[in-house]
Amino acid sequence: MSKVVIIGGGIIGATTAYALLKKGVTDITIVERDSVGSGGTGKTAGIIRCHYGVSSIAALALFSLDFFENAAELIGTDIEFQQVGYLVGVGEENVEPFRASLANQRSLGVETEEITPAQVQPLWPTSFVEDFATFCLEKRGGYGDGYATVQGLAAWLRTQGVTIKQGAKVAELISADGKVSGVKLVDGTQLDADVVVVAAGAWSVPLLEPLGIELPITPKFVQEIVIDPGIDLGAPPVFSDIVSMQYVHLRNGEMLFGNSDGNSVISIADPDVYPAHATNEAIEATAEKAIHRFPGIEEPRVSTTTTGMVDSTPDNNPIISATDYAGLFVAAGMSGHGFKISPGVGQLMADIIVEGESSIANVNAADFRLSRFAEGELLLSPYAYKGAMGIR
Ligand SMILES: Cc1cc2nc3c(=O)[nH]c(=O)nc-3n(C[C@H](O)[C@H](O)[C@H](O)COP(=O)(O)OP(=O)(O)OC[C@H]3O[C@@H](n4cnc5c(N)ncnc54)[C@H](O)[C@@H]3O)c2cc1C
Repeated sequence: MSKVVIIGGGIIGATTAYALLKKGVTDITIVERDSVGSGGTGKTAGIIRCHYGVSSIAALALFSLDFFENAAELIGTDIEFQQVGYLVGVGEENVEPFRASLANQRSLGVETEEITPAQVQPLWPTSFVEDFATFCLEKRGGYGDGYATVQGLAAWLRTQGVTIKQGAKVAELISADGKVSGVKLVDGTQLDADVVVVAAGAWSVPLLEPLGIELPITPKFVQEIVIDPGIDLGAPPVFSDIVSMQYVHLRNGEMLFGNSDGNSVISIADPDVYPAHATNEAIEATAEKAIHRFPGIEEPRVSTTTTGMVDSTPDNNPIISATDYAGLFVAAGMSGHGFKISPGVGQLMADIIVEGESSIANVNAADFRLSRFAEGELLLSPYAYKGAMGIR
């Protein structure tokens, strides 16, 4: 294979280039309409964990840990991974699927241990934990910095000869006789390619539509609320609260809250058009849950909010797939959890392009095929939690 063009300078485009380089593919160009990390990657909460019911997603996350833990050696940059651990707490109604999921995760090699609410209390001293039945702690989890990670990776890719064109929007794919041969940019420039990888999140949809390829990706608006606790909370683990349906972690001493019941995730028509601030409803709902969960914080104050767009598929799992066109591949639809699995997604995409099959333990490439939606074979967790969004 000679020439590869990757559309999208987010973490998925960058990790795909990284994995292709490791396979000896050298002629790689990434084309990014804006700047590297300007999409969902630059807005991510950055939570890293392997707690998934879908085995192949847990395995992608596990594979990815190696990159996050060793980035300084691998790409020569500190990507700001804070390995503070990842806690999940559930109520009685979810104990059964929770334990079954933990057993499955362990069988895949995930290091996760069940702990009691009493053991959690000192980790988050300000918290109320009596409405939880049980918890697990994944010590290798934590949170990262999406922007630092993709910038670090892009800098390293350039040193390896990868071309990264910013301000280079792809207008269309060039194809004939069931095969792609390159891309055309909005300024009319044509880039020839033997392989084109579309890694442009929700923006992938209009790129593939003219070829008759329908990607079932819906852009959704997500909202996160930042609360200043007014006190020093130390470095507690990321807290996934499957009782109040929220997640929280510290970022620069402030608490970043997100909602995990799906209520504040809203479908939008245009992936580029959504509010810059969270709605009052989302702020009020978060404040109410936060006060319930952290009664020990006496004077919490909403300091700011962040919003972003996620590219959701019907099963909330990615599309990492060949297409009916020779030379055309898709890695999109990360559905709001693509950061933590990105090194695995890039590896799998490169595996599919070069060898046609997965090299990652416990990852079946077919799980992520585009055709699963038309076939009605969604990739769903056998251990779904009642009341929670389907990404665990
Ligand atoms: C608020 C928020 C919180 C999140 N929290 C987490 C989390 O805690 N943990 C986690 O794992 N994940 C999380 N995610 C999800 C994660 O950030 C994304 O899944 C991941 O960053 C997606 O990367 P990507 O490369 O697929 O997409 P993007 O980063 O969006 O990159 C796609 C790129 O394609 C470019 N592009 C689009 N159209 C074109 C075109 N025509 N030509 C050229 N370039 C084009 C865009 O400009 C963009 O830079 C969160 C996302 C958001 C928004």
